[in-house]
Amino acid sequence: MSRFRYPSDCLNHQRYDNYIRGIHLVNPSWQFISLPQFSRNAFNPLPSLLQRPFEEVDSYRSLKSIDVAGFDVPKPAQNFEEVNFPQGIQVVIKQTGFSEPTPIQAQSWSIALSGRDMIGVAVTGSGKTLAYLLPAITQVLSQRQYVDRKYPLAVILAPTRELALQIHQVLIKFSMYMPVRTVCIYGGINVQQQLDTLGKNGVDIVVATPGRLLHFMSINRICLYYCTYIVIDEADLMLAMGFIPQIQRVLGQIRKDRQVLMFSATFPATARSLATQILMNYIHVTVGTVNQNILQIVMVCEEEEKKEKLYQLLKEIQCEKNKQTLLFVKAKKKALILTENLKLAGFNVEGFHAGKKQKVREKTLKQFKAGEITTLVTTDVASRGLDIKEIRYVINYDFPKVVAIYVHRIGRTARGNKHGTAFTFFTDKDWHQVGDLIDILKDTNQRIPSDLLQEPVTKPVLGKRKRKK
Ligand code: ADP
Ligand code: MG
Repeated sequence: MSRFRYPSDCLNHQRYDNYIRGIHLVNPSWQFISLPQFSRNAFNPLPSLLQRPFEEVDSYRSLKSIDVAGFDVPKPAQNFEEVNFPQGIQVVIKQTGFSEPTPIQAQSWSIALSGRDMIGVAVTGSGKTLAYLLPAITQVLSQRQYVDRKYPLAVILAPTRELALQIHQVLIKFSMYMPVRTVCIYGGINVQQQLDTLGKNGVDIVVATPGRLLHFMSINRICLYYCTYIVIDEADLMLAMGFIPQIQRVLGQIRKDRQVLMFSATFPATARSLATQILMNYIHVTVGTVNQNILQIVMVCEEEEKKEKLYQLLKEIQCEKNKQTLLFVKAKKKALILTENLKLAGFNVEGFHAGKKQKVREKTLKQFKAGEITTLVTTDVASRGLDIKEIRYVINYDFPKVVAIYVHRIGRTARGNKHGTAFTFFTDKDWHQVGDLIDILKDTNQRIPSDLLQEPVTKPVLGKRKRKK
């Protein structure tokens, strides 16, 4: 295989940086490209689903708290069999031992297989990954006949490297008996090494972080023109300021009659208005807001008291049988310092943040999953999507900038049917978020500490409020 070379017109770093970010990529003139027709509908359910009376469908939806909005919403699949996935997928589902689809899976499978665009909002740990991956495999198998094997047919976009890797691992597991070629493209590791894994003959499904994907598109190693199935996971984050230019650049290179699906546990109005510009005739599915299996304990304190309280808390957790803990701080510098302090105090901790090399990050995560490290000190790089069943505790040492991130952070525990506990330190400088936090605590029937309900004695100054002593 030829080695990757810098393009000759990129003589300085700035221009090269822009080049690999795909800034030069122009949207193709679609009228001059011959796009093969394809069928968006790969839904072939058993008659039990099609013939189910509408009253039964409604009562299933209300029992499972599934809210749907949109025209002509397909009926949810109440068990695995009636979706009638290809045989190879059904075998793996049986091997996993799952008893029934989660509510978001039940509703998303029929929508995604019918070829409809959708927004799926469901609580953390509720199985959204399989909600879009199993239809992706099915759609790709049914559409491959229309498109040359060189070109990918499905793309799944995720905001962080570890999340992309995790999604790819689930994809490998569920497509192992199917003729589906997959690749995971993410930054932080050697480009050439990744180009080698991509191979020459193309792939069917690409799981990627947008930056490295754009890099590969820029150097003509991936062409998404013929892609028909696009998933944007953690979509509210991907449609926020940091990611949206990249997402737009990627979507600009994909045929317009594609199917787009967006998933997240939170979906604020700003994200929704951007999403409506991308989606066509879409269905909005909502299942719950915050995971009810998490015990949320909020501790109101002063900034200076946090460290002492943290040590106390970690000592208590050390005595538990299952002690895997994710400890969130606001920035990587703080993570570095706190990790060192905790190590000196004798705790079994390691840092996991953007300040570490990708290989080290992956190794640390492996050790954490294996229980060799009990506490990870991290930043919001770990707040989205990570599915580590062993995590029993989440500690918010610093309260996040917005409450939506709080929901994602605490959602790293209580995955699937498990339970977990989230401890949160809340200080005066977080006071401008007290209303939103109380709403979440109320929604999930948690105890609200009396300190949180105290009237502030001064007006908020630059987002800070003083509480009565
Ligand atoms: P989300 O993306 O909604 O946060 P994930 O897709 O990461 O959640 O799934 C969380 C956990 O739930 C995973 O460990 C997965 O194996 C498990 N899971 C997925 N589907 C089911 C199911 N139908 N029944 C039980 N567990 C499931
Ligand atoms: Mg997820």
